[in-house]
Amino acid sequence: MISSAPVRNLDTQDPYAWIDKSMQTIHRANWYRQVKTIASQPGAVVELEGRSVLNFASNDYLGLAGDDRLKQAAIAAIHQYGTGSTGSRLLSGHRPIHRELEAAITQWKQTEDAIVFSSGYAANLGTISALVGVKDLILGDEYNHSSLKNGAKLSGATVLDYAHCDMAALQHRLEEHRGNYRRCLILTDSVFSMDGDLCPLPELLTLAETFNCMVLVDEAHGTGVLGSTGAGGVEHLGCSGKPLIHMGTLSKALGSLGGYVAGSAPLIDFLRNRAATWIYTTALSPADTAAALAAISIIQSEPARRQQLWARVAQLKTSLETQLGDGSSIQILPSESSIICLQVSNAETVLAASQQLLTQGIYAPAIRPPTVPTSRIRLSLMATHTTEHIEQLARAITLTVPG
Ligand SMILES: *Cc1c(COP(=O)(O)O)cnc(C)c1O
Repeated sequence: MISSAPVRNLDTQDPYAWIDKSMQTIHRANWYRQVKTIASQPGAVVELEGRSVLNFASNDYLGLAGDDRLKQAAIAAIHQYGTGSTGSRLLSGHRPIHRELEAAITQWKQTEDAIVFSSGYAANLGTISALVGVKDLILGDEYNHSSLKNGAKLSGATVLDYAHCDMAALQHRLEEHRGNYRRCLILTDSVFSMDGDLCPLPELLTLAETFNCMVLVDEAHGTGVLGSTGAGGVEHLGCSGKPLIHMGTLSKALGSLGGYVAGSAPLIDFLRNRAATWIYTTALSPADTAAALAAISIIQSEPARRQQLWARVAQLKTSLETQLGDGSSIQILPSESSIICLQVSNAETVLAASQQLLTQGIYAPAIRPPTVPTSRIRLSLMATHTTEHIEQLARAITLTVPG
């Protein structure tokens, strides 16, 4: 007979009952989130739940997700190679366009090689967990993206955060802890996704060199947008060619789907042998691969798209600053990117503000805890917004957003 500890009310227990309770807590905190349906092409104007609205909620910074040339490239790749990539690249082989895309990323990022993953999230999980383990240390900016934080957890390394963009705090951590660990990996976004500000990369790289640390820079919101060739925040901050690990996504400014890591040839070869999220998953689809490849070529040959985006960013900042005035309770968070955030006092107010903007035809999401420490309206600008779109946005904000 198997003996076990007595359990009370075993047959009346529902092992899933906790979910209802948990959802009630989420509702009470105004943290509940729901998906809205867009039944149109991606772009500056979209059809959201049956009405036409100005879209400030997309990461499609250059308006390429709806570009005919990307569509044609994806369709051609489907005709040539089919819809599925049929398996892991190591076991089932890859298509020529997978290596062509990796070569294009390598050349753009000025590295020795690159590897593409099925998503940016998978790229971070697989890369971080391959590079460090239980004997190692990870130092990360407190505002880093979820994929960096979860990659760090998965690695089994000791993980310590440092205050946002605070290089003195990072140095302090290094002085105190670096000596106790084998390898050290510093993780940072180049453009912080929920704030829009930039990492002080030159200072960070100097610290990394002094303390013998690897550095992984997440360029999800920098690639295609920042830098003289659009290569990203690393280029913009004058750090091209420095020894670091470039990571980014194909799914934001590049208008496709997938992620990448670029760096030295040994690093990339190591990842092909050790990154579980690359080895044990199906290769990027031919359509996504071809669309990303087409996007890189357009971004490199059409700098005017980026210039247009920066002109819209400047226009919005100027109008908000003049219309809101000094005494305004709306605070524009410091930004050096195409992400501009308006800080609002709490989750309930920011939800109401986002809802009011929507009634005026403006789609601008409310970002709340636990995603960020303070509530805000997050505006994401696109090269394909017109000057009238920006004027309409600035007017609506002045009318509706409370402090
Ligand atoms: C979006 C994002 C990712 C994840 O990229 P996906 O390709 O969407 O999985 C990683 N890091 C940052 C900073 C991001 O904003």
